Amino acid sequence: MGRIRILPDAVANQIAAGEVVERPASAVKELLENSLDAGSTHIRVEVESGGRRLLRLIDNGCGMLRDDAMLAFERHATSKLSSVKDLNAIATLGFRGEALPSIASVSRLTLETHAEEEQTGTRIEIAGGKMLKCEEAALGPGTTITVRDLFFNVPARKKFLRSDQTELAHIAQLCTHYSLAHPEKTFELRHDGRELLHVTPVAGLRDRVFQVFGSQVLDELVELDAKEKELRLPPAYDSTDGEPEVRVFLLRGFISRPQIQKMNRNSIFLFVNGRLIRDKLLLHAISSAYHNLMPPACYPFALLFLDCDAEEVDVNVHPSKTEVRFRHSSMVHDFVRDVIREKLVESRPVSNLPLPNSPRPQPAAGLPFSEFTQSLENFQPPPESARFEFNAAPEPAATGAELPQFTVHGSYIAPPQAPSEHHSPQPAPAMPSAPPSRLKVPDTHGDFPVTASYEPSASMDVLTDLRPLGQLHESFIIAAARDGLWIVDQHVAHERILFEKVLKARTAGKVERQQLLIPLVLELSAEQLIDYARIGDELAANGFDTEPFGPRSIAVQAAPAAIGSPVAVEKILFEILEIPEYELRQMSVDDLRRNIAATIACRAAIKINMRLDMRKMEWLLAELAATDYPMACPHGRPIALRYGTRDILRGFHRI
Ligand code: ADP
Ligand code: MG
Repeated sequence: MGRIRILPDAVANQIAAGEVVERPASAVKELLENSLDAGSTHIRVEVESGGRRLLRLIDNGCGMLRDDAMLAFERHATSKLSSVKDLNAIATLGFRGEALPSIASVSRLTLETHAEEEQTGTRIEIAGGKMLKCEEAALGPGTTITVRDLFFNVPARKKFLRSDQTELAHIAQLCTHYSLAHPEKTFELRHDGRELLHVTPVAGLRDRVFQVFGSQVLDELVELDAKEKELRLPPAYDSTDGEPEVRVFLLRGFISRPQIQKMNRNSIFLFVNGRLIRDKLLLHAISSAYHNLMPPACYPFALLFLDCDAEEVDVNVHPSKTEVRFRHSSMVHDFVRDVIREKLVESRPVSNLPLPNSPRPQPAAGLPFSEFTQSLENFQPPPESARFEFNAAPEPAATGAELPQFTVHGSYIAPPQAPSEHHSPQPAPAMPSAPPSRLKVPDTHGDFPVTASYEPSASMDVLTDLRPLGQLHESFIIAAARDGLWIVDQHVAHERILFEKVLKARTAGKVERQQLLIPLVLELSAEQLIDYARIGDELAANGFDTEPFGPRSIAVQAAPAAIGSPVAVEKILFEILEIPEYELRQMSVDDLRRNIAATIACRAAIKINMRLDMRKMEWLLAELAATDYPMACPHGRPIALRYGTRDILRGFHRI
């Protein structure tokens, strides 16, 4: 007897389930897509225990006829395709006919459905792929699918599931995304009886974005006015009239201004013909649109809907249908890039940042950097004669001859080799014990001999004898030290000081808090609620006394004393709760504390564009010198630039 045999359907279904149903959220995705394909206008998702115990999807769509309902659980049973030709232009979200049999093979599933055309409804019960019951039932119109005990018969898969909170976060994300794609429909999500999302029909995308993300996010976004592109394809070789075929691409949605910077792509939502996808090509197009407007390794918020002829995009690339392939990919790429870039340039002229050419450290969730660029816009341009240009490159910067410019080749005091702050404080290398060499420069230029000690060392020990000379643009402290001229960014310097203070107080359990006069009530999104549930205790230990206030709100009663205003308290909390759930999950307690401390420090630190008197500057430099790690702010940006004495001497041709 041969060794090869055809797998029984039950096994084949479980194999398919391996691809299609990875976790509760993937089951929800399939069920939700089915409901949308069925023309539902009201979709309700109920979840228990992160979806392990129960997932229920209730829709008011077209329902299924009894025979269809039974057939739907057969492999490759679909009402959405009938021939290979249809595969070239798929207009529905589903088409593989795999989802229902797959889910049913790894759970205990009940289908209740009633189509208008039939008198009564149908109830079907299946467990582990076996049909247990199929009966007539008195049901309202639409379909309800209940999935209990997901993976009860696939222990291996069950082991891979994360905590309820994590699984729920994935589900919440999915429901949120699909609700954005369908502003005209109602979406509800409930977990263990608690409402996490409830959006009712609104006129358009802008209103839905407001419902889901709130007014603050909406203010930071720019709407792309639907842009169209026509693609003229050369006449098909079998066409009789020789006319070029015209394809239309339409892009609409929202993008963030370059000032909003995210550390990952989690805030990029892409829909192609209404399907939520992850697509490298489109992600790349977005990155290129922001190129030079945003530091590398930062990402914007983007909610994009690209619509095109179904033939232009192949969705049959992956079983979970989250990837697509475009027929004219480079054209699509450039179209998306250009539309976004044009809008960005039009909405806000680019600020040129006079930052050193050194590898740019990654800013945190964007705030320090965006504050910086925003403040730069408020700068009064200094008189040209006083213009500084920082340039860490060894060769002189090319400066326009007509513009008298003072070019400073400052040394960037880079953080030591291991910038990771997980290690104990890095002691700065000690100053050489030998007395600094005294340099006698020949007095060829008449005035006075320059005597300077110039230690080429980049030791931050020198900080202790920094003497402030004044402020540049009310943002940078200019200071003299034994090894040259120092320029200290006052915001990041203070950020570093506060960061270490907050962290030390937290570690010692001695956080100072202050009662708010009026409790601050914050409304949280579904995802933020999940974050809050996870880190509420750590927030409390950091001085944020909060308690749930209604189903989706929290009331903040007290906040760390370091934070001045309730507005800042709100911003800080939202910023902390903005950390994507999967990142939080991987974060150690230590990292979380650092993250919270960095957020508080950034918000509470003195800003740039703020006049400081000498006493304050002295205080700031002394405090900075006393920190464990005065080289870089908690987000990795440099705090100080040094213009070494040797460079100064060289610049004046004295050596
Ligand atoms: P596909 O969506 O790829 O067709 P599924 O296994 O997800 O395959 O669903 C099989 C069929 O069951 C669908 O083609 C559709 O006809 C029917 N169906 C599934 N869910 C619903 C629903 N919520 N309302 C109406 N019909 C549904
Ligand atoms: Mg389907």
